[in-house]
Amino acid sequence: MPGFEPNSRARSLERLSREVFDLLVVGGGITGAGVAREAALTGLSLALVEARDFAAGTSSRSSKLIHGGLRYLEQGELSLVREAATERKSLRRIAPHLIVVAPMLVPVYGRTAAGLYKLRAGLTLYDRLAGVPAEERHRILSAEEAVASEPLLARGRLQGAALYPEYVTDDARLVLDTLKSAHLAGAAVVNYARVTALGAADGLRTIGLRDEESGCELTARARVVVNAAGPWVDALRALDEPDARPRLHLSKGIHLVFRARDLPLRQSVVMPALDGRPIFTVPRGPFVYLGTTDTSYAGPLDEPLVSAEDAHYLLTAMRRTLPSVAIGPREVVGTWAGLRPLVRQEGKPPSEISRRDEITVSTSGLVTIAGGKLTTYRRMAERVLKSAARLLGRAVAPAGTAQRRLPGGDLGPGQDVDAYLSSRVAERVMQWVPRDAMERLLATHGSDAPEILALVTDPASLRPLAEGVPLSAAEVRHAVRHEMARTVVDVLERRSPLSIFATESAREVAPAVADLMAGELGWSAERRAVELTAFDRLTRARLAWRDACAMSA
Ligand code: FAD
Repeated sequence: MPGFEPNSRARSLERLSREVFDLLVVGGGITGAGVAREAALTGLSLALVEARDFAAGTSSRSSKLIHGGLRYLEQGELSLVREAATERKSLRRIAPHLIVVAPMLVPVYGRTAAGLYKLRAGLTLYDRLAGVPAEERHRILSAEEAVASEPLLARGRLQGAALYPEYVTDDARLVLDTLKSAHLAGAAVVNYARVTALGAADGLRTIGLRDEESGCELTARARVVVNAAGPWVDALRALDEPDARPRLHLSKGIHLVFRARDLPLRQSVVMPALDGRPIFTVPRGPFVYLGTTDTSYAGPLDEPLVSAEDAHYLLTAMRRTLPSVAIGPREVVGTWAGLRPLVRQEGKPPSEISRRDEITVSTSGLVTIAGGKLTTYRRMAERVLKSAARLLGRAVAPAGTAQRRLPGGDLGPGQDVDAYLSSRVAERVMQWVPRDAMERLLATHGSDAPEILALVTDPASLRPLAEGVPLSAAEVRHAVRHEMARTVVDVLERRSPLSIFATESAREVAPAVADLMAGELGWSAERRAVELTAFDRLTRARLAWRDACAMSA
């Protein structure tokens, strides 16, 4: 089976109470997942513990772009550009099922064409520095060509545009597949296990853990602990050294989701906000999302929310570049907000702070990684492993993770979902599977889709849970049995991104999802009700800013 086994969570908890691990990673976002995979594939014994669900923090709330690092060019961070560009290629190689190549249009406005020349020079340098293959190099469009390519663009003072391919991913599923890979290489991986204490005894690190499901406490032991807790990095450091000075500057970014029929764009479009920051729209299936903001944040970390002010900032900017689009808060069908765990740089506003990662080792030996990007997680993991290997006093051979595919990433010669769909393997399965289900399973699970279908005993279970909703009973069961989904929110928000893209659809099917999960996990009626209340509260809070907009209108 290409994922977790049905009893994986219990077995991992049991291993945590018994074994001594070389490395224990705290945090099941992309940073921790990357370290876990890297370490497990080099042959270290490894455990990863996540306080909530995998990717429940920032790693399910990014803009979902595998950036080539063009933005860092402007900031003069050439090594970061090279790294991001290389990693973009690696990710496409190891996870082709999770990467969609999508054109990005950057219109340039002004009295003269100076801005367009500057952009062209930057992109030419970028293509060279980043080793962009010929078919992916940028093109410059005249104003007429730009409008022909994107008829919704404002025309006044439009000088032209640049067009280049951007990679779009599903961040939460990238985390999950990376963790599955670590698990398949022998790692003990567990969600809903919170680190509550860090100590030392008999030459080992001791890690106090609370199983958030049972409330039971246990102590794990490891030679080295890696703190990959994203926005919670400072809280973890405080468990190690109560006087440690905070390293992070948290910055909030939000996204608004529209139906594609309300915002009928042909490609992603980059637009200037009123303060000059670039914002963008990204089409994704039947939806288009608009992002993002970059504002200092000091509120609660678990569920940052969109404010009316955040939404106003994005909507105002969008209306300037796409003036004929008559949409506002009422057309928003989904939202999400995330916190960037940036490494503090005194005196700099969030948008100017470097996106580089920083690795530090405390006097007691806690390895902390802060900052970084989804795009560069694999290289970050390599660097963390070097630090950990020094502490372990061991040479660690490279794991070759840039070449070894993630589960689901073996799509055959074309390494392309469409080519796979028309392949013989898919054809055989398609005889009894509805095409829309097959397409969705391939886009989500890649080459593992046939194995997942082999577990389906009743073809009717592949039907959507409600009309037009891209989720079936078979997928919910799979998420519980083989992807360690433990709550309704886990299924509706991260195994599938339904609730962040189409909140009302997710609310419609939440009771059916709760019924299925109750059957799988043996929930009582009371537990089922608690789950639905939690989901209701979360999804209401997500859209509450619209009421504030209505009141001030
Ligand atoms: P997280 O994903 O937050 O993971 C940390 C985990 O640690 C959490 O799941 C948390 O529950 C867990 N944890 C905390 N405390 C404990 C504890 N005591 N015990 C156990 N577990 C604990 N990058 C890109 O490359 N491309 C983009 O398009 C992009 N867009 C972005 C847009 C926005 C709005 C934001 C906010 C970020 C964006 N990023 C992007 C950056 C990227 O998303 C982050 O760098 C990355 O997701 C951070 O991952 P992480 O694993 O470090 O943190």
